[in-house]
Amino acid sequence: MSEKEKLKMWPAIVHAKCPRCRVGAIYSNPTYSLFGQKMLENCPHCELKYEREPGYFYAAMYVSYAFVVAELVTLGIGTSILTGSSNPWVYIIVLLSVVGILAPFNLRYSRVLLLHWLTPGLRYKPEMSIKR
Ligand SMILES: [Zn+2]
Repeated sequence: MSEKEKLKMWPAIVHAKCPRCRVGAIYSNPTYSLFGQKMLENCPHCELKYEREPGYFYAAMYVSYAFVVAELVTLGIGTSILTGSSNPWVYIIVLLSVVGILAPFNLRYSRVLLLHWLTPGLRYKPEMSIKR
């Protein structure tokens, strides 16, 4: 298989595709859906079972935690630079509202990154990308 036929990692992560084939979707609906996010049990393309073992996605909480800390620090510094305010309510309102808005994003991408980067023994297999 040539280098050209291999699917790139970043588009697979951004579009929440299966870590093994990079073709099948992980979620059945968009990040910001009124009905919440529905994660598929198996990859529709290569049949990979996403939940490796019962409770596997508890580990995504650590990834999500890192996201939230990074967001809070960035927002706190950004708010300080932009407003120069020393009123704690400015920070509380800005930080909580933005982190609240980003919660569905954090949920989705914490699981996607867990599957793509932090799951031992799970890696991209280009031969799995080929349409069967
Ligand atoms: Zn797959």
